[in-house]
Amino acid sequence: MAAEGEGGGGEEYLFKIVVIGDSAVGKSNLLSRFARDEFDHNSKATIGVEFQTQVVELDGKEVKAQVWDTAGQERFRAVTSAYYRGAVGALIVYDITRKATFENTKRWLEELNIHCDTAVAKMLVGNKSDLEEIREVSVEEGKSLAEEEGLFFIETSALESTNVMKAFEIVIRAIYDKVSRKIL
Ligand code: GDP
Ligand code: MG
Repeated sequence: MAAEGEGGGGEEYLFKIVVIGDSAVGKSNLLSRFARDEFDHNSKATIGVEFQTQVVELDGKEVKAQVWDTAGQERFRAVTSAYYRGAVGALIVYDITRKATFENTKRWLEELNIHCDTAVAKMLVGNKSDLEEIREVSVEEGKSLAEEEGLFFIETSALESTNVMKAFEIVIRAIYDKVSRKIL
């Protein structure tokens, strides 16, 4: 478990959140939007695991979200178990303009469920909502898959910075609620 209580003045939490999904769906850009409010127009897949930490305040408590990026490992479907270890939240990302990336979210979920406890807070994320004119996956399809699988659902645009903070915040809030009720 990645949540830690600390004595003294207040409590401090550290939540490990993994971002998974097919190559080029926008995972790295969602991460850089969340952590640095940046969009990288020439992002290329780099190999090796990386994470970024962002501090969020919830109920007056400091929550550190440590968000992990597959950083290219997903290209070879070789995301290691170390990547998933200790995760308490997950964003499963697809690209709304590429149906196959949506269909593959089931495989990503299966992999997540093999490595992680079922209590992990999971959000299905349909990214690139700015590309409405070439959409291949409807909002309804996203919603109904999320309902079937018991996931939160949101559409985002890392490019236009739409709903990115909200996606992470919903997951962080869900984890926080579980931890503070000692469910995780
Ligand atoms: P990753 O392989 O899943 O980490 O995907 P990247 O973050 O590297 O993005 C892959 C490509 O999609 C890049 O060319 C990005 O510029 C582009 N991209 C990422 N997010 C968006 C978005 O929200 N809208 C649009 N139009 N392009 C995006
Ligand atoms: Mg990437």
